[in-house]
Amino acid sequence: MSAYDFQEIPKVFYSYQTQKAFCNCLVCNCYLLDDATYVIEKAYKKHLGYTAQDVIFDYAICLACALKIRQEFSSDSLTKIDAYFSEHLAMSPSPRQKDPIDIDQCLAQCAIKKTSVTEMTNYQIYGHFYGNKLIKSISPYLISQSAIEEIIPLISNDTQDLLNDFYNRHLNPDPELFLPKQPSDHLVFI
Ligand SMILES: [Zn+2]
Repeated sequence: MSAYDFQEIPKVFYSYQTQKAFCNCLVCNCYLLDDATYVIEKAYKKHLGYTAQDVIFDYAICLACALKIRQEFSSDSLTKIDAYFSEHLAMSPSPRQKDPIDIDQCLAQCAIKKTSVTEMTNYQIYGHFYGNKLIKSISPYLISQSAIEEIIPLISNDTQDLLNDFYNRHLNPDPELFLPKQPSDHLVFI
């Protein structure tokens, strides 16, 4: 990979708690900023008509841990999730090699529903990283709550239990912010 395959980690992917880049994997605690490949997920909630938004949870997970958890998904769930994404997910076109990705543009609408972020109250963003850089070939993307609500029924009960267990064990959301409609309202690892 050349230097053009990476760019600086955008601030939107900084840890809410530290306001700096994530340093460790949520699960195995390995150090991320040297040569680890990892994913960052952040879930937001905001109120329509206001620009302020709350971070419900955010974390970084190394690829090895993410793959390990994905292996525990039921094969039926995996097949359905993958089919849903290949049918609906439209990534932003890759920028010319030398140009940095326009992060604001990537995160301005739901990658599935195409709705504008200004019209949604709950959403999650994802990005892929290597060490202290964003991997440009996998554009960061945003998934709205309405897309997540379509995906959740595709997931078997066992896999939902697995995700809920992960959520409860690791993310320990702030009870002030966390208003569960149902435990599987959030989706990790997509
Ligand atoms: Zn890990």
